[in-house]
Amino acid sequence: MTTMQGARIHITGVVQGVGFRPFVYALAHRHALNGWVRNTAAGVDIEITGSIAEVAAFTHAITAEAPPLAHIDSIEVTDTIPQPFDSFTIVPSADIPNAFQPISADMGLCPDCLRELFDPADRRFRYPFINCTHCGPRYTIITALPYDRPNTSMAGFDLCPACAADYHNPLDRRFHAQPVACPDCGPRIWLEPADHDTILTTHDDALQQARAALAAGQILALKGLGGFHLAVDAANPAAVAELRRRKARPHKPFALMLPDLAAVRRHCHLSPAEETLLTAQERPIVLLHRRADSPIAANVAPGQPTLGVMLPYTPLHYLLLERTPGFPDALIMTSGNASEEPICIDNADARARLGHLADLFLLHNRPIFTRADDSLTRVALGAPYPIRRARGYAPAPIRLTATLPPILATGAELKNTYCHTRDHYAFLSPHIGDLENFATLQSFEDGIAHIEKTLRLTPEILAADLHPNYLATRYALARAESDSLPLVRVQHHHAHIAALLAEHNLPDDPIIGLAFDGTGLGPDGTIWGGEVLIANYTGYSRALALEPCPLPGGDAAVRQPWRYALSWLHTANLPWDADLPAVQAAPPETLPVLQHQINRGVNAPLTSSMGRLFDAVATLIGVCHTVTYEGQAAIELEAIAAPAKHANPYPVEIAGPHLLVTPIITAVVADLRQRVPAATIAARFHLTLAELSLQAARTLRRDTGLTTVGLTGGVWQNLTLLNLTVPRLQAAGFTVLIHRQVPANDGGLALGQALIAAHHTR
Ligand code: ZN
Ligand code: ZN
Ligand code: FE
Repeated sequence: MTTMQGARIHITGVVQGVGFRPFVYALAHRHALNGWVRNTAAGVDIEITGSIAEVAAFTHAITAEAPPLAHIDSIEVTDTIPQPFDSFTIVPSADIPNAFQPISADMGLCPDCLRELFDPADRRFRYPFINCTHCGPRYTIITALPYDRPNTSMAGFDLCPACAADYHNPLDRRFHAQPVACPDCGPRIWLEPADHDTILTTHDDALQQARAALAAGQILALKGLGGFHLAVDAANPAAVAELRRRKARPHKPFALMLPDLAAVRRHCHLSPAEETLLTAQERPIVLLHRRADSPIAANVAPGQPTLGVMLPYTPLHYLLLERTPGFPDALIMTSGNASEEPICIDNADARARLGHLADLFLLHNRPIFTRADDSLTRVALGAPYPIRRARGYAPAPIRLTATLPPILATGAELKNTYCHTRDHYAFLSPHIGDLENFATLQSFEDGIAHIEKTLRLTPEILAADLHPNYLATRYALARAESDSLPLVRVQHHHAHIAALLAEHNLPDDPIIGLAFDGTGLGPDGTIWGGEVLIANYTGYSRALALEPCPLPGGDAAVRQPWRYALSWLHTANLPWDADLPAVQAAPPETLPVLQHQINRGVNAPLTSSMGRLFDAVATLIGVCHTVTYEGQAAIELEAIAAPAKHANPYPVEIAGPHLLVTPIITAVVADLRQRVPAATIAARFHLTLAELSLQAARTLRRDTGLTTVGLTGGVWQNLTLLNLTVPRLQAAGFTVLIHRQVPANDGGLALGQALIAAHHTR
């Protein structure tokens, strides 16, 4: 028996709650190996004994055939003396103090569970909480490690004998599926009216009554996976208008849920890459171009050529959207929150905060411990381009090549996410939202505490934005004080570029970073946002920036971009003539005040913001004078732009450290007076910025020899600009980096802050 061999195998990564042990169990039997497998707080341990050939084949198959939701980061094999095992078994989990491992994100229903859901012979037929080790809730139901049922929101549901048999059978798809449940033992649904003094009905009848209400144009609040949704028939303009009125959300687009791909094709154009993204198990909302003949109401996404669409991802969604004659083909499925507040996750909280928004509540009794908004993404230049990273993606880590100390980076003010690092992982939180109200701040603080507990993270270094008034910065300042931790303050646009370098796992070499953004504080006290930085993790220099201009009224100029347009006219020495749409938008009595603010620099900080320049041009040409959500004017400017193929750019000039704007404004006004259509001006403007980007890159390549250009910052969510810029840079010989894992907007910022802090303190 000289051919016998023993081996001990340690595996790290997302390997728990994903069917890994049953997979190993079946694999060991296939290869005639004896020994054991167990979960630990650090991963999965295996010990085996068998023939040399089978041990090798087994070790290879672990990575080659791993279950769909598993993600192996490392596999370590040590030879051992053969042991006298007489079988292969799954042994109890072992906790290891202070050890940790990534937790799987919540995943959409798998094909096997979907088939069972609609199989009348299955005991979970039409059960809204069917799941298995290949699908279902994870991160949103976990309270602590290790990932076992008592540490989830399923702790209160005792398994019935049939579910217990599934759970304990290593050959079953539900072996150790912590959220396993059935109609006899698991969570259930019920329907309440908006005034909640009663339960109207339960089970399938609750579902049918909810569907009838939706078909009749009513607004339904439903508890989902990572929070509540508000649902309404998307083809009913009056119902959509009523939802907008109640939510006090006049223009911002609503996301849709459609029952299947056939429905998506009826309403939207769908490329193969978009189809792949839409049907991925993460189930994000994907921005798609709407078909001209789609009956979806125009007020779902006013002024936009796109619709945000997702497919059902929980069994409850599949049941609710089931295709039957007379039922809506598309539902609005928007976050269940009051404007700008965090999404509701708790029944009592939802009754209190959504009572005035919904007509009916479809509730269930499986608690949600952690919020996860729907993720939002789109396809850009053939691959995914994230806009909001949340459910399905977070808390799956960004995997880094370097090992980092434990850092907490607190992110930005708007579209906040925060980021923890440990070992070679960066855990970027799900989208938190705009830290402008107490409820969102609470969600931010609770989320940090929760992930530090579940992933056993103890930050040793903090990172925060330069802006002293961001609530995320204030949190970091207070925590640095209370926990006696070093705090690294990071310039906003430097962080954007570092985030881009980090997600591409690049070394600490400088690149030409085009950080085109809304706003971020510069170390000179002015507001930056159209920056061309030579940057790596360790540092940056501001090589070029957009020509600055006073932003009169600060936040008021963000909501009313005509204020900034008039400031640009002033800077360009153009009178505020009454024929100009931006001047017409300004109430006459505001003009002297504005003039005073600009002349004296009173509440009119200088800014080089590219995002604000888009707003200014949008209002100059009459597209949008008042915004009700961030980025609205810029988005509407992009939406009206004609194809740029035959357009000519405005003057592209770089003088000293500035990308000049004055000649562009002057040319736009000249076009306006020539009665050039707004669509043409918008096209010329986009083309101009693409050419300006190219010229900036060329100038800096000449000065520094650098040939890699990174495009980051919220402005790069503008696909018209991205599609014009990237090919130009590539044709000129540049290597171009764009975001693929984290958003180009402030939702990706914390990742860059963390990397900069790691290098700063090294
Ligand atoms: Zn499943
Ligand atoms: Zn059961
Ligand atoms: Fe930013």
